[in-house]
Amino acid sequence: MNYDDNNIFAKILRNEIPCIKVFENETTLAFMDIMPQAQGHTLVIPKEPAITIMDLSTSAAVDLIESVQVISRAVKKAMNAEGITLFQLNGEAAGQTVPHIHFHVMPGSILGAKHHASTMADPVELESIAQKIRSAL
Ligand code: 5GP
Repeated sequence: MNYDDNNIFAKILRNEIPCIKVFENETTLAFMDIMPQAQGHTLVIPKEPAITIMDLSTSAAVDLIESVQVISRAVKKAMNAEGITLFQLNGEAAGQTVPHIHFHVMPGSILGAKHHASTMADPVELESIAQKIRSAL
């Protein structure tokens, strides 16, 4: 399968559609999930176009994990979370809905979390959570 330049995260990377950003560096971007499965659910994406972890270059994968670690620490601190769940789906068969590789950084446990990509959050509330995460970076 070829990378689709018009997927929603590609558009976010090109600033064609907005996101509630918490962190950006040369190779990665982190922003709030608009349908969070728990408060503080954040997505971390590489800027390199790739659908799955298998398609990503090694150096982009290294940079991505570095940012996932930075964001995990900040989300844990900001949300006072005792634990952080990381998950990352590869391919539609695995449940991936946006075909640009991303890590989910989610406070708490997947057990008891809301359904995947199901309920839109209030953008005002998301912005206030994002502010806490930015302050914890
Ligand atoms: P996947 O199913 O690909 O692992 O996860 C995609 C995630 O992206 C879901 O958790 C979903 O809520 C989130 N999402 C889908 N569309 C948008 C969007 O336009 N903006 C943001 N910030 N998140 C999105």
